[in-house]
Amino acid sequence: MIIDAHEDIAWNMLAYGRDYTRSAYEIRQQEAQTHSETPRYNGQAMLGYTNWLQGQVGIVFGTLFAGPARKRNPERRVPAYETPDEAHRLYRHELGLYHRLAAEHPDKFRLLRTRQELNAHIGQWKGAPADAAKPIGLVVLMEGAEGVRAPDELPVWWEDGVRIIGPAWVGTRFCGGTGEPGPLTPEGDALLRGMAEVGFLLDLSHMDPQAARQALETYPRGVIASHANPAALLPQSRSNRFLPDDVITRLAERDGVIGVVPYNRFLDTAWRRGDPPLPLSKVVEHIDYICQRTGSSRHVGIGSDFDGGFGAESTPEGLDTVADLQKLAPLLHARGYTNDDIAAIFAHNWLRKIREVLPSAAA
Ligand SMILES: [Zn+2]
Repeated sequence: MIIDAHEDIAWNMLAYGRDYTRSAYEIRQQEAQTHSETPRYNGQAMLGYTNWLQGQVGIVFGTLFAGPARKRNPERRVPAYETPDEAHRLYRHELGLYHRLAAEHPDKFRLLRTRQELNAHIGQWKGAPADAAKPIGLVVLMEGAEGVRAPDELPVWWEDGVRIIGPAWVGTRFCGGTGEPGPLTPEGDALLRGMAEVGFLLDLSHMDPQAARQALETYPRGVIASHANPAALLPQSRSNRFLPDDVITRLAERDGVIGVVPYNRFLDTAWRRGDPPLPLSKVVEHIDYICQRTGSSRHVGIGSDFDGGFGAESTPEGLDTVADLQKLAPLLHARGYTNDDIAAIFAHNWLRKIREVLPSAAA
């Protein structure tokens, strides 16, 4: 099984009307027939129920995502927020989409909110043939916490199924973020205290390194980076989106896991849409870097971010849909990784983190 730690499923449903009960190919066909603008901005769809199934992607961290109006491309009429109240409405709406997806298509999607639900899900996947239809498990991750109006509403988000929160996308009122450096603010400190009290897993992706370092020192519960590549392999980039070595080391010391993003521009920042695709071995280089840096295969996984602002034309050679993530296995083998290492990278590392955060169901 593969666990993918970052997919903006609800955002694509909300902003682009993508129907992920279908296959990525059906979505592409439908968008071509209706002359949709979506592929131009968001790329060719890579996600879809049959593709998850085919790639044995049995668990996905499904995000709640929205951006501020100030960062919206004026040509695109996607939803965006001006105020925390507006952000709250968008994030609540997306959470509702996951609940609806699971309620209306229980054969295809299932929310994983407790350890019991997780264990039953794993049991079903282990017990069924690889090609048998089964639901994809969704763990809800809030990306950019502007939808949280005040820490006292964190228990409600938890109650409704959110288990992971990343405070930043661009800068937020909680901390510096991508392209907008800065530390944790007093509001950010209060958010993290509230998150720790309830029990959330903290996602450092998009946090400015300064804020990430502060959080790594103070956040007492589990810490991950759901989708972030090592900065050391992108020396020509001046972006604060990538993880400096000291943050990688500290994350590993905190037993964190980092999801590598198979997006060409995150593998080689000189790459531009329309350039020839990068070789798939680039993804293995990023995985291997984290393993070498941290001394084991325990702290890396996949956080594809597929359909998160890019599509199949912007991923390495051989990655057409999410199912193709399985092609990483032979490349890792060739690089000396054992079956156990590959199982850790594909699934067990993320499984460890979600086992820690998911509560036992109330009796
Ligand atoms: Zn992101």
